[in-house]
Amino acid sequence: MLSQIKGIHHITSMAKDADENNRFFTHTLGLRRVKKTVNFDAPDVYHLYYADRTGTPGTVMTYFPFPGIARGRPGTGEVGTTVFSVLQGSLDYWQDRLTQNNVAGLKKEERFGENRLLFEGPDGDGFALAEVESDGRAPWTEDGVPEDKAIRGFHSASLRLRDGGPTEELLKFMGYEEAGQSGNIRRLTVPNGNGANVIDIETLPSANPARQGAGSVHHIAFAVENRQRQLEVQRALAENGMQVTPVIDRDYFYAIYFRTPGGVLFEVATNEPGFDRDEPVEHLGEALKLPTQHEHLRPYLETHLAPIGD
Ligand code: ZN
Repeated sequence: MLSQIKGIHHITSMAKDADENNRFFTHTLGLRRVKKTVNFDAPDVYHLYYADRTGTPGTVMTYFPFPGIARGRPGTGEVGTTVFSVLQGSLDYWQDRLTQNNVAGLKKEERFGENRLLFEGPDGDGFALAEVESDGRAPWTEDGVPEDKAIRGFHSASLRLRDGGPTEELLKFMGYEEAGQSGNIRRLTVPNGNGANVIDIETLPSANPARQGAGSVHHIAFAVENRQRQLEVQRALAENGMQVTPVIDRDYFYAIYFRTPGGVLFEVATNEPGFDRDEPVEHLGEALKLPTQHEHLRPYLETHLAPIGD
């Protein structure tokens, strides 16, 4: 069993409209945009990152906005719900705030003794806020959410699977431990994690497979401290029968990817070098940043990419 994985690093989804997506995550949810770049594999599409002040792993929600992309159809083989952590006593505030912002799908529920508020992103994305007793992560508050109510980072991600067994086994190999069961949901947590420690597995044997599109999670990335730890994980996963990609330089972290038995695309990403490698923390996310291999496209991209708000 591995011990290098320290929780969720980032979660990457797809959206239809970059400006709407940006407004939702900064103005409505109060996260900080920490990077405005492009999809390194399809540079005519933005890659937008929303997080805490510095883009701490475990707080980073990222989007590929593909203009005009059809909405996804929820189903199995994907991350169904991305859950953010807030302090106890925050949900009434959020219910009011999200209602005022015309956010759809508001519904309170309890899971494993925690109160949650479910809500949808602009493309029907499945989100929730979960109240926790304490969370030591400092929130970003400069986009209008008070300090005691603001999002701390990820609480968990909930995977929807036709058969949860093989993915649960894989997560245990990756260092996760059983933390509870409630109906068709099994909860796993990673010890000594970064705060985004929980993965829920929802088993839905008769549900249809998801069809990816706007509002779907593209992949979920798990955090390792550095490149050495990543190589250890890569080797162990390969020895365990996973088809793992070579290490790919994503400028702000190094990434490896593998498709899990339940269909979800997993990534393992390094905490280094971080989002301040090419711009100062005070100005993260303001300028369009391009990786060296796409810098020659800047004149085209600066006119082609739809403008988004601050
Ligand atoms: Zn990623």
